Amino acid sequence: MKKINIAIDGTSSTGKSTLAKQIANKLNYIYIDSGAMYRCVTLFAIQNNWLNGSHFDKESLIESLPDIHLKFALNKEKNDQTIFLNGIAVEDEIRSMEVSNAVSRVAAVPEIRRAMVRLQHEFGKDKGVVMDGRDIGTVVFPNAELKLFLTCSPEVRAQRRYEEMQQKGISASFEQVLSNIKSRDHLDSSRADSPLIKASDALEINTENRSVNELLDHVLKLIAKKS
Ligand code: C5P
Repeated sequence: MKKINIAIDGTSSTGKSTLAKQIANKLNYIYIDSGAMYRCVTLFAIQNNWLNGSHFDKESLIESLPDIHLKFALNKEKNDQTIFLNGIAVEDEIRSMEVSNAVSRVAAVPEIRRAMVRLQHEFGKDKGVVMDGRDIGTVVFPNAELKLFLTCSPEVRAQRRYEEMQQKGISASFEQVLSNIKSRDHLDSSRADSPLIKASDALEINTENRSVNELLDHVLKLIAKKS
């Protein structure tokens, strides 16, 4: 079967990463979590005290972009793929509320987006990549052979994210998670550079009443037709 690139976009916690990981496992594709990349840049800014409450030293962060090295690899301890920021596995740190509350501001900066998109192109150049995010079908891989746009209500998404965070031992109330999701939806959809919008040729799927397996089966059939 010919390998293709698959773009999965949508707001947070619509089930993009679960679906993308399963496709990657099933078809031996590479999974790239583009949100994790923006989260790492945000963590790096926080670590350097360039991002704190309303203070955001954008210029220092932009200047330091060449010092940020991102790599996806297997975390042997967790037997799961994780992102490494300058050689350190930061999967848990990038899921904190602090990072979640700041990431959409960082992701709105055009210079940062350009650097991330360059890397994303590099990851996808040999095909066989399934990438999830906000602008994958519109900006990163406008020629992806299959584009999906997942939707789901904010309340159901917040519940999913809340349970996921509880499992990981990350503390936050349901209300905090819901408010973060709504505020990111707004910022991500209204920014000037690469806003979250459905590509005209993307297939929209509501994930609210579909089981994970049902969704995977449906998408595997779509991939088979394109491959
Ligand atoms: O996917 P996740 O919710 O982890 O993404 C975190 C944030 O990163 C999003 O809210 C958005 O601001 C940003 N993002 C983006 N473009 C992408 C992926 C994520 O702007 N392709």
